[in-house]
Amino acid sequence: MTSGSQSLINADLPAYTVRVSDRAKSVRLSLSVEAGLEVVIPVDYDHHKVPELVQKKRDWILRNQLKLDQREAFLQAQAPHELPDSIKLRSLNEEWQIEYRQSPTKLRTININEKEAELRLILTGNIADIVACKFFLKQWLIQKAEKDLCRWLHKVSDRAKLPYRTTAVRSQKTLWGSCSGNRNISLNYKLLFLEANVVEYVLLHELCHTVHMNHSDKFWKLVSKFESNYLILDKSLNQAWKIIPAWLDF
Ligand SMILES: [Zn+2]
Repeated sequence: MTSGSQSLINADLPAYTVRVSDRAKSVRLSLSVEAGLEVVIPVDYDHHKVPELVQKKRDWILRNQLKLDQREAFLQAQAPHELPDSIKLRSLNEEWQIEYRQSPTKLRTININEKEAELRLILTGNIADIVACKFFLKQWLIQKAEKDLCRWLHKVSDRAKLPYRTTAVRSQKTLWGSCSGNRNISLNYKLLFLEANVVEYVLLHELCHTVHMNHSDKFWKLVSKFESNYLILDKSLNQAWKIIPAWLDF
């Protein structure tokens, strides 16, 4: 039951809903962004007393409403600093601009609309929910890696005549890629942020592991057959973590 008439009389008090609870032993007020002001009453409580009760709790309601509003405003103000305005994918030579659009929702799902021709991502939902925004941006990156990195690996494999079995995209903290004894290759989606020649080297490196499952002289000899600059490229990977955007690590 929503008490519309009450909120007209008490213009400064938020509209409230009344919920009858089997478990409630006494009247309880709760205030949240999701549910607004809620009056929870026991089954045997007289409904007609609710407006008076809300009036009596007026100070508590206003004080807590202010706190909630301030917290919301704070979160809104943080959003531009915490979330990226753009995503630079050096490997693909793409820089995606990101637009955030607040829409009224109680869900934690953020919709990502990809405008490929303009390299623009439009995020819609409760964009004050920074954790959710980051989560869905990361999902977008993983999907992009699944499409673009896997296609790339396929090409390098064909060219080098080094076949593999399957490929999977992972989110790893310290590994750019790996190759199992069964010739299954894993790639870190964060490779998308690196320069193309570095990514190409990582793909080749993992493909060479399908022949030599170690870093023996034979392995490096095979790598050098395809990439003479492998020493410098391999060393650059130790520093490459620095250009991975900080917002991804939450
Ligand atoms: Zn290796």
